[in-house]
Amino acid sequence: MSTSTYDAIVVGGGPAGATAATLLAQHGRHVLLLERERFPRYHIGESLMPHTWFTFERLGVLDWLKQSGSPRKHSVQFVSTSGTVSQPFYFFKTITEDWASTWQIRRSDFDKMMLENAAAAGVEVREGVAVRDALREGDRVVGVRADVTGGGSETHHAHVVVDATGRDALLAGKLGWRQRDPDLNKIAIFAYFTGALRDPGLDEGATTVAYIPEKGWFWYIPLANDTVGVGVVAEHDYLYRETRDPEAIFRREAESCRWIREHLAPGTRQGPIQVTGEFSYRATRAAGDGFCLVGDAFSFLDPVFSSGVYLALKSGELAADTIHAALDTGGVTAATFEQYERDLRHGLDSFRQLVLAFYDPTFNFGEFIGTHPDLQPQLVDALVGNVFKDLRPLMDALGSYTGGAKQPVKATDS
Ligand SMILES: Cc1cc2nc3c(=O)[nH]c(=O)nc-3n(C[C@H](O)[C@H](O)[C@H](O)COP(=O)(O)OP(=O)(O)OC[C@H]3O[C@@H](n4cnc5c(N)ncnc54)[C@H](O)[C@@H]3O)c2cc1C
Repeated sequence: MSTSTYDAIVVGGGPAGATAATLLAQHGRHVLLLERERFPRYHIGESLMPHTWFTFERLGVLDWLKQSGSPRKHSVQFVSTSGTVSQPFYFFKTITEDWASTWQIRRSDFDKMMLENAAAAGVEVREGVAVRDALREGDRVVGVRADVTGGGSETHHAHVVVDATGRDALLAGKLGWRQRDPDLNKIAIFAYFTGALRDPGLDEGATTVAYIPEKGWFWYIPLANDTVGVGVVAEHDYLYRETRDPEAIFRREAESCRWIREHLAPGTRQGPIQVTGEFSYRATRAAGDGFCLVGDAFSFLDPVFSSGVYLALKSGELAADTIHAALDTGGVTAATFEQYERDLRHGLDSFRQLVLAFYDPTFNFGEFIGTHPDLQPQLVDALVGNVFKDLRPLMDALGSYTGGAKQPVKATDS
């Protein structure tokens, strides 16, 4: 049982939690971070967006990334269902600064580095501690109750609790806030290969998105050590139409997608085929008195534009700055996070609009820019992650490509 009161307790040591904790510590705050696992641990989500650069800069981890041996990602390319490969979408064609390229990272190494960086900034990092619930005084969260691996439980108190538990979404789950996105009901089936083909030179670290029929796609992400991550994302009913065996489904889809089949032909699979269901969701609220949600603990969006880690970093950053300011001015209530929540929803809605357009069978990037050449800079903004700004003209134009989708989950009025 701990008796000291922290400024903040961060639950979860993924990119969102590590970012929030590090930046709060940089602000001079007394922070405890509790992580259930012991790092390094495996995690999906390896392809970064260029706009991650600015949070990395604040965290002081750019040198690690530059020296990590992770492939540099200069572009994304798209392959049609007939096998036609698009011109790579090179970020440096529109961005002239260093941040025009980003990385394909191995999350076990990256997340471990981020957690060590948090500890170096002064965060008290505890691994092997699983938070079971929030401690409350009335409606206000005042701390957490946790179980320690190997036995024992403990409680800790803080002025604010940051829920960064990823797709476990601890508090949103307990509060009944988590809502599935009915328009993005996909699943992912994925694996890793060594010895598979990768394009030469500048394109060696490119992400390839290869369409399959029926609103689906493959990702092909080159990683360090001659490894590629490959996964297929599509509607549940489409993928499971003949069998529920992930091995058989992955094989069937890879065989029928020429680009993937040819690139995987010389490769050897490493490890099992993995499945993620329960895809896109969002919590109805992002905060309450004494707590807030960051990263996947608030929302998860279909990964087609590799927005997850970026949103985790950005929400961790926004939350840390919001909390720091509030601690100086009296306390952390639900109202503290009103602007935070507005900003986060704005960024998420922008990405979601792009994702819905991607799945609309009548949408095509080339044709869209042909019709709206003036929107090219805004489209680039969205694709590199610069979504926390006014992108209304682009969003209005994309609004006609929604595949019949409904509005995103809105905040409740209560
Ligand atoms: C199939 C798929 C493909 C993806 N591809 C990409 C991609 O290419 N690029 C990209 O940017 N994103 C991608 N993502 C998304 C990315 O994985 C997430 O958005 C990102 O990891 C979110 O970071 P986070 O810190 O919010 O959560 P996480 O990284 O999940 O971290 C949460 C941490 O909290 C810990 N935790 C959970 N519960 C507790 C508890 N009760 N107590 C203590 N600790 C706890 C966990 O152990 C974990 O370490 C993909 C996701 C999926 C499902």
